[in-house]
Amino acid sequence: MSPRLAEGGLVGPSRRSFFKAIAAGGAGLALNDVVDPRRVRAAAAGTKLKDAREVRTACNFCSCGCGIICHVKGGELVHLDGDPDHVINQGALCSKGAAMQATHSASWRVQKPLYRAPGGDGWQAISWDEAFDKIAAKIKATRDATWIATDKVGDKEYKANRTDAIAFLGGAQNTNEECYLYAKMARLFGTAYVEHQARL
Ligand code: SF4
Repeated sequence: MSPRLAEGGLVGPSRRSFFKAIAAGGAGLALNDVVDPRRVRAAAAGTKLKDAREVRTACNFCSCGCGIICHVKGGELVHLDGDPDHVINQGALCSKGAAMQATHSASWRVQKPLYRAPGGDGWQAISWDEAFDKIAAKIKATRDATWIATDKVGDKEYKANRTDAIAFLGGAQNTNEECYLYAKMARLFGTAYVEHQARL
């Protein structure tokens, strides 16, 4: 695309300097040199993004955890872009991430916890509070039933205070702060099994 065709998004290079930048450093570097995200945003002010609120999030598809800027208007996602300030993707998105808006507004998207009762033949929607209560009760019951207070090595008995029946699985979308809290919670529950989605 010629720099002149993308008015507002480019830092006014001549056609010659645009191609010179590409030849010098490869397409990725060249675009960094000539595209100014601030000007791109300014140009968006008169478009569908006018008055839209920016919300930063992470792509939910794979373990790369690319950063996304969502543009929200009246509670609806109207547009999304790769986050140019994100350390992982630096503004880029693959085809799945770029198409994430479709999953947001899909009519078949599951938006409530679904519960299948023992012996039941179908799923029923329950509230988040109900789901949290059920999960907490199951964790407590499992922990109590499988608690290992001590381990015996030879003739000696050592304190163990753990359960081998509970594991924690983190995801690439979790922030450092969330992971810190998850790890603490896992230790409090007494499990040593803490894994990450990206290693599976
Ligand atoms: S944008 Fe693509 S590479 Fe990045 S997290 Fe999403 S699916 Fe993975």
